[in-house]
Amino acid sequence: MFQNLQDKLNGAFKTLKGKGRITDVNIASTVKEIRRALMDADVNYKVAKDVTDRVKQEALDRKVMIAVEPGQLFVKIVQEQLQDLMGGMAQTVNLKGSPAVVLIAGLQGSGKTTFSGKFAAYLKKQGKQVMLVACDVYRPAAITQLQVLGEQIGVEVYAEPDNKDAVSIAKNAVAAAKVKGKSIVIVDTAGRLAVDEVMMTEVENIKKTISPSEILFVVDSMTGQDAVNTAKTFNERLDFDGVVLTKLDGDSRGGAALSIRTVVEKPIKFMSTGEKMEDLDIFHPDRMASRILG
Ligand code: GDP
Repeated sequence: MFQNLQDKLNGAFKTLKGKGRITDVNIASTVKEIRRALMDADVNYKVAKDVTDRVKQEALDRKVMIAVEPGQLFVKIVQEQLQDLMGGMAQTVNLKGSPAVVLIAGLQGSGKTTFSGKFAAYLKKQGKQVMLVACDVYRPAAITQLQVLGEQIGVEVYAEPDNKDAVSIAKNAVAAAKVKGKSIVIVDTAGRLAVDEVMMTEVENIKKTISPSEILFVVDSMTGQDAVNTAKTFNERLDFDGVVLTKLDGDSRGGAALSIRTVVEKPIKFMSTGEKMEDLDIFHPDRMASRILG
């Protein structure tokens, strides 16, 4: 994960470590290399510029140039700024309501159904009574996929295979969950290959009808800059509460992890690092920043 970015950042730091003395000039060239490394990792230009400007200012304010270990202090400053960029502290999910309703949205193939299963398993482990809801009325295979996952983790799946109205399925599911005394309902919605009007209106209507306490937007981190653009579009329509970054186990360039928080102003709450049900982690910006710096 982030190997390329890590190598490039370490390369940038080496230009400092080699010097006996640190000057304004070599800080400037290191900062420039860091900016280039971030942009190569698909971080959007403005975000890369903002973060490196702040690194430079901090380095000057904290007198990196006269520090005993200037290189180390500089790396620490970069780490702090990356952590800040990704949102500072880990963020929790709002599970208010009886039952609490969580809406999962995103493009097809982003990992929504897999995440829904993982999240259900995670909550079940905490002793919660969870219900999964299959709201993809366009792909029968999506319902089966959720049912298979539900069976695997021992969580009930609500589906109405003959009903083509996703809004009414969601509404009926929440009512059924209430009767059955479930504490959390996770609604997995349909996704398309690209953002389209019908899908957006449908998911907006589901939101209006079931008033979720938490809306999570799921996005494939391998899609780079597109991940950020899709997040923007979904956020404009849904005003979601948090982001789930998936496929971080792949050869991701990391740009999505680094830019989404700044561009969309919503926190990344979870990261998914594989296809297995236990491959789910709470997103910790501090740990991610340390990981990126290697
Ligand atoms: P959906 O269409 O958004 O519901 O996406 P799915 O949950 O069906 O996932 C699409 C594909 O990506 C499936 O083959 C999943 O097994 C795979 N997948 C989902 N999350 C991850 C992940 O974190 N890492 C990897 N490597 N594969 C994932």
